[in-house]
Amino acid sequence: MDTIDIERLIHKYNTPVPRYTSYPTAVEFSADFNPQDYFTALTEMTSEKPVSLYLHIPFCEHRCFYCGCNVIVSKRKEMNDDFLKDIMNEIIYKTSFIKFKPVVSQLHFGGGTPNFLRISDWQKLMDFLHNYFIFSSDIELSIELDPMVMDVTYLENLRSFGFNRVSFGIQDVNEQTQRAIGRIQNMTHIDELFQKARELGFTSVNVDFIYGLPFQNLETYQANINWILKFKPDRMAMFSYAHIPWIKKHQAQMPVEAMPNASEKLRIYLSVESQLNMNGYVSIGMDHFAKVEDPMSQALKNKSLHRNFMGYTTQANLDQLAFGPSAISHVQGVFVQNHVKLRAYEKSVRDKVELFEKGIKQNNEDKLRSYIIQSIMNNLYLDINECNTLWGIDFNKKFSTEIENLREFEKNELVKIYPDKIEVKPYGRYIVRHLGKIFDAYRKPSEEFTKRFSRGI
Ligand code: SF4
Repeated sequence: MDTIDIERLIHKYNTPVPRYTSYPTAVEFSADFNPQDYFTALTEMTSEKPVSLYLHIPFCEHRCFYCGCNVIVSKRKEMNDDFLKDIMNEIIYKTSFIKFKPVVSQLHFGGGTPNFLRISDWQKLMDFLHNYFIFSSDIELSIELDPMVMDVTYLENLRSFGFNRVSFGIQDVNEQTQRAIGRIQNMTHIDELFQKARELGFTSVNVDFIYGLPFQNLETYQANINWILKFKPDRMAMFSYAHIPWIKKHQAQMPVEAMPNASEKLRIYLSVESQLNMNGYVSIGMDHFAKVEDPMSQALKNKSLHRNFMGYTTQANLDQLAFGPSAISHVQGVFVQNHVKLRAYEKSVRDKVELFEKGIKQNNEDKLRSYIIQSIMNNLYLDINECNTLWGIDFNKKFSTEIENLREFEKNELVKIYPDKIEVKPYGRYIVRHLGKIFDAYRKPSEEFTKRFSRGI
């Protein structure tokens, strides 16, 4: 396939489709869900397996124009006082249903801007978490950071609290783009942070970039790649910008005429991908890259990569306990999402009523389809024999319609279907969300979701 064929293929499938960070997808979550299902799931947890924790910090000091998240913009750090009380009370209440003190093997802080918390807040929060959970000796303790609202001392403190993974949100090194997106970065300062993170012994130092922003083109993006290759982050996320000013009004501040069109975006992506691949990075899904020696690349090679709401992970099927506004937990097949708006979240925690905005309990069929979708999307492979053994089914009989629907993709050399396995071919990776959709029982193959889901590429 040459670039034109890839372009044709990608444009054909550049339609809205779920990301499948969960199955059923979040649009199937319902306010009618029974919260008792979640509390029962907590009581049924067993101590053999560690858990994955996520804490959501919803504050940011300023609003970036491209932001797609629900954030509270403020410089008033005193807001952390009430927030910490709320999130601690939420943790105390919900963990009271668990019959043992859980061992945590993953703890991630996202936002918003987690480094909105002051060092004194971290001291309190980490002491508190150590009281309610046992941190495993090989815990992955990670945090998303806005480099412009921190200094090297802050980084030193994070390391002293046990953090071993950091991810810097950079988005673009080009000044014109930074001005257009309302996120001015001092690259000398970021260089300093990056070097300090290495010196301090963080085992994974990562960066986030976005493509599709104003004034980006193949040439300007070259500067991003050069920057990345100079610092050799362990992992890199490269997200496609979604322009939805009718929902996120602040996005209208950006000059839409300066944004690369779909073809240019694609060329940027393909060029970044090829350069990173040539320089020792492995493509993980459509939006992540990891050094070839990184455990994530190894997991992809061994077909044992997983994905949860925090992103790709090498740890299999851990129960996820998530706290803070909008956080999504997944325990023993039950998904729940906390209230997205801070006020509603605070009220739910303080009054201990209507604790969740919505949720869903997976049935066995959901669990089976989730397994298939995750296997195809994360590892680009499904072992049909293993699937039959694990789920007590005859895959080829049960999913004969889905296999027929996959044939169209097979004709275009995007997948190869064997009696005992399904393999995603190299170019199939670009449309893997569409392959997942074939096994989604909640939507028809031809159905389109212009409002609810982002585009497939
Ligand atoms: S720092 Fe992140 S979450 Fe905060 S406004 Fe900017 S993009 Fe949004």
